Amino acid sequence: MEFFQQLSAHDYEQVIAFNNNATGLRGFLAFHDTTLGPALGGVRIWRYASDADALTDALRLSRGMTYKASLAGLPCGGAKTVVMLNDDIRREEAFVGLGCLVESFAGRYFCARDVGITDADLAAIATTTRYVAKEPSPELGDISEHTAIGVWQGMRACLSFAGIKGKIRIAIQGVGSVGHLLARILKREANAMNGIEGVELLIADVNESRAAAVARELGARVLPPDEILSADCDVLAPCALGGVISPESAARIKARIVCGSSNNILTGLDAADALAKRRIIYAPDYLVNAGGLIRGAEYFLLGIADSHPSLMKIYERTHRVLNIARDRNVSPAVIADELAEARLIRPKRYNNLTWRGSADSRNA
Ligand code: NAD
Repeated sequence: MEFFQQLSAHDYEQVIAFNNNATGLRGFLAFHDTTLGPALGGVRIWRYASDADALTDALRLSRGMTYKASLAGLPCGGAKTVVMLNDDIRREEAFVGLGCLVESFAGRYFCARDVGITDADLAAIATTTRYVAKEPSPELGDISEHTAIGVWQGMRACLSFAGIKGKIRIAIQGVGSVGHLLARILKREANAMNGIEGVELLIADVNESRAAAVARELGARVLPPDEILSADCDVLAPCALGGVISPESAARIKARIVCGSSNNILTGLDAADALAKRRIIYAPDYLVNAGGLIRGAEYFLLGIADSHPSLMKIYERTHRVLNIARDRNVSPAVIADELAEARLIRPKRYNNLTWRGSADSRNA
């Protein structure tokens, strides 16, 4: 598809391609929509097969952020940065440079951690911009933990909606930041839920030592990464990368519920239809993985100290989406999109909120 066709297909506001030969920093920053307020969106670093793949990822992810913020009722918009991992990258200097780019938007964009980003990367970004959720931060808390708590609330809603009781088996694809914390929560909290009498965990990670460590800690069973999607289980929780459920892979899923943290779990709405036809309950990804965004927005934009009450609302919101989807006999993915789009009223204009920069930046 031509570049501007791609932008107009979902009304993207702006896309920046950035390049710095000296540091090897290369990638895209996509602003999808700032109708509701200034944008928040993570930084991802990944080895992409092509420039086009990186651009597509930035576009899809930034749109997901808009929808996530809208559905969560937040006054912020969606953006995303993807950095193309390459052999020449001088990581620390590259992220210092990225911080300069973020700072140049003067609060229109606030960035945070996404796949592949380390604490050291965030610290490097924070040397040149105030507009980054630097971690660890005791006041902010752990963003990934907020995400994991939100996914758990969404999963609880799905289990209650499906009337599943007794001992349940949950398969987690990817036990990185969110997947690991979700596994811990499931082990700790599951018994506290009405009708659930314990959780057996199946996990998979392409990083074998990570999977082994989580298995040791939580008594989980490790499956090969190519078997986890079709594992015999009640709930499948994709917590790795997006695009894992296509109409074809949906046909192999044995779980009754799909609910995980990955952004863009589905390849498209045809995959949502394939799940719906098989009566597999799908919790829209950006509905249930909004916990980290909620925390970031409440802390940096609204000055709210504790976001747990807002995370709990993901339970009700998921129930509502599932109920409407059942009544209208369509996929929950369709309902989530409709509800999110209803808040994106034209014409686009900024409201008067700005991100509160981190206090400890050298630039502040
Ligand atoms: P992470 O990089 O810490 O963890 C991802 C894990 O998935 C890694 O351990 C990686 O080895 C593993 N993995 C990759 N491909 C795999 C495969 N094919 N099979 C099995 N394991 C595989 O990332 P994260 O922060 O935990 O995020 C996980 C997902 O959740 C991503 O899609 C991210 O965009 C999404 N998400 C994260 C947050 C957050 O707060 N961190 C918020 C919203 C959405």
